[in-house]
Amino acid sequence: ETFRLSAAAGAGALKLHKGDITLWSVDGATDAIVNAANGRMLGGGGVDGAIHQAAGPQLVQACRKVPEVKPGIRCPTGEARITPAFELPVSRVIHTVGPIYDMDKQPELLLKNAYENSLKLAKENGIQYIAFPAISCGIFRYPPKEAANIAISTARQFSVDLKEVHFVLFTDELYDIWRETAQEMLAQFEK
Ligand code: ADP
Repeated sequence: ETFRLSAAAGAGALKLHKGDITLWSVDGATDAIVNAANGRMLGGGGVDGAIHQAAGPQLVQACRKVPEVKPGIRCPTGEARITPAFELPVSRVIHTVGPIYDMDKQPELLLKNAYENSLKLAKENGIQYIAFPAISCGIFRYPPKEAANIAISTARQFSVDLKEVHFVLFTDELYDIWRETAQEMLAQFEK
């Protein structure tokens, strides 16, 4: 499903899909998927495990080369880092770390930062098509409706120089919540 992301000139489209983000690609040259990583950036469960599996072992090698900002931490919560995508069909992987909902302070701000910093890093690297999973909505237990509001409003705010922002939702429930939120939030631009 496609929505107009913003009234601003140049801002692209928002597209929603149900499925597996490791299979997503638009052109293989200027596209990137976002990984819901953890601070160590050496792999994990959920979408992180799926992305590392599909990218092949070179991805973890590339992640190891990302400098630690403190012992064991390559990407603090709310920040983003970029690597090649290796065997994935996209050109790059943007790794971001969302908040653990009932543990981190100011989870709303940290989730917004994760989306915002991913979009800014994409722009700096010439990415025109980006796909996000539902960051923090799995193991990190973020309430999905609140997460959808933050995800879509931040995409609207920071996507001006990207052609398309996609969300690839893994479950029916998440897909329905994202679609409903987009309809509520973006209906004003449909005319
Ligand atoms: P977090 O630790 O940020 O909560 P998870 O990987 O546990 O990250 O979950 C984030 C979201 O990614 C969840 O909604 C989960 O259903 C979803 N997910 C898991 N595998 C995939 C996949 N292959 N493609 C897209 N989304 C996925």
